[in-house]
Amino acid sequence: MLFSELAEIFDRIEAEPSRLEMTSILAGFLKNVNSDDIPYVVYLSQGRLHPDFYPMVLGMSDKLVIKAIAATVGMRESKVFDVVVKEGDPGTAAEKLVNDKKQMTLFSDPLTLDRVVKSLITIENAEGKDSQDRKTKILSNMLHDSNPIEARYLCRIVTGRMRVGAGTMTVLDALAEAFASRDDRPEIERAFNITCDLGLIAKTIDEGGIDAIRKIKVRVGNPLKVMLAERLRSIPEVVERLGGKCAMEYKYDGIRVQAHIKKDSVKLYSRRLEDLTPNFPDVALSLREHCNIDEAIVEGECVAVDTETGNMLPFQEVTHRRKKHGISDAIKDYPVRMFMFDMLYADGRDMTSEPYLDRRSSIESNFKISDNIRMTAMKIISSPEEGQKFFDEAIAARCEGIMAKSISKDSIYRAGSRGFLWIKYKKDYQQALVDSFDLAVVGAFYGMGKRAGKYGALLMAAYDQDADRFGTACKLGTGFDDEFLEKLPEMLEPYISQDKPPSVDAQMIPDVWFDPYIVLEVTGAEISISPIHTAAAGYTKDDSGLGIRFPRFTGRVRDDKDPTECTTYSELADIYALQEHDSNGLI
Ligand code: ATP
Repeated sequence: MLFSELAEIFDRIEAEPSRLEMTSILAGFLKNVNSDDIPYVVYLSQGRLHPDFYPMVLGMSDKLVIKAIAATVGMRESKVFDVVVKEGDPGTAAEKLVNDKKQMTLFSDPLTLDRVVKSLITIENAEGKDSQDRKTKILSNMLHDSNPIEARYLCRIVTGRMRVGAGTMTVLDALAEAFASRDDRPEIERAFNITCDLGLIAKTIDEGGIDAIRKIKVRVGNPLKVMLAERLRSIPEVVERLGGKCAMEYKYDGIRVQAHIKKDSVKLYSRRLEDLTPNFPDVALSLREHCNIDEAIVEGECVAVDTETGNMLPFQEVTHRRKKHGISDAIKDYPVRMFMFDMLYADGRDMTSEPYLDRRSSIESNFKISDNIRMTAMKIISSPEEGQKFFDEAIAARCEGIMAKSISKDSIYRAGSRGFLWIKYKKDYQQALVDSFDLAVVGAFYGMGKRAGKYGALLMAAYDQDADRFGTACKLGTGFDDEFLEKLPEMLEPYISQDKPPSVDAQMIPDVWFDPYIVLEVTGAEISISPIHTAAAGYTKDDSGLGIRFPRFTGRVRDDKDPTECTTYSELADIYALQEHDSNGLI
């Protein structure tokens, strides 16, 4: 397949504002792609070469890309740099310069998808001395044989700025449209949620249709999207919602870890599918030692502890383990315990459709409990009073609250979904009006006065699960300390977008746009109907969105959360409804 065919489709999708149209363009194309190419077509549509959990490390800075463009079009690097600044990104600059150059040259070898993939893999694997020169050369060779649109996408892929506008959900829609039917869409999403591998799903459905998708099972090495909890505002409501009887566990305040245990190795994944094994090698080792079967997938929360008193320490302590260097000191200085709460796989057995109590007892029978590998505290609760007592114990043990879990026979593990099979109740709910929000940074405003020369406020967005888009919910300017303000430009720099990102809906125009990537935790006084914010537009009132009043940054960067795990439009609307209910004196 020629890379130009794919680049042309990306170009059409990028220009298309309607998600339905995008889906049908992609579906029409996918139908005719052969099954060896299809994984790469879908990975590249996301600006990747591998599944989401595989870190792509092409590692090409703008500087290297400018060098490659300069070598291709025979211009000085400083001149190419000027065009990049003017156009706003190396992709558009390459497109323009290759276009000018093509007016003059006549012959070049056409670029195939196969060649692009092999070249990108070589760039990715280039290491050591001269590796930067080798990467530049490979890119330049490809650019030499590119048409302008191909050049645009090649440069965007290697710099990690793909932004075609068709996210994972749109690709899944397109796969349903191309190879199955709309009704099969939930099955396709289930298969994706338990494998996190878009290429695998595309190849499977292409080769074996929806029947093959149904047969996809959990496998060690492919992280699953995590199951999430709904929230309710009182213990009696929680107990009632779960049918008067449920399990309650302590809700630990740490880092969620999904451990994939093989015979000779263990990998730990964050809920954002990052590899956490280098951060918790001690936990990985203990899990292998204390697991008495060959292969398992378990989930738990890693919490920092004071080894002298045995007390659990606040969340900030365990975040010291997230740093990249000096991990051997961090292991000594910040010891952790993993509290296991779920088991998803055991020696060939996909356990996600088994009830909660069975999964829990499988942890007990397959793991030896040790000092740093433990079970979450759990109790079966049959009344609100028992629930309240257990909650008080959890708080006394320095936990955040409780996780109530259904014990019905339908209490399966729903990967990637938030539902009432799990309900969280935190001590914060007793004080604040609402839970905190997790919002993506999509813009920044330059500061004034004390904040001159830095960002003074951020434009924050919630996530629309149905449309796979982000809508603004507040302008956030409080809760930042000086150190954070200092760090912000560097943290946000990789995600700067020249224009409003295609996935963002906004009326407020910031000084700088960002692709949604960085997620911050925000509290607010209340949610109100907003004519200026676009989150949950039309949910409560036509033409108006929902905005968070008096937003405040809690100090917590949710680097464990993917932007698609931000507070959703429907959550905002639910909280708004609860709040209105309260203020009408109905509760
Ligand atoms: P959410 O995970 O619901 O998006 P969040 O990340 O802001 O929200 P919380 O609302 O604090 O987190 O609660 C959910 C998280 O609580 C889980 O993702 C998990 O990391 C953690 N957790 C702690 N204890 C437990 C437990 N016993 N069972 C399940 N999850 C637990």
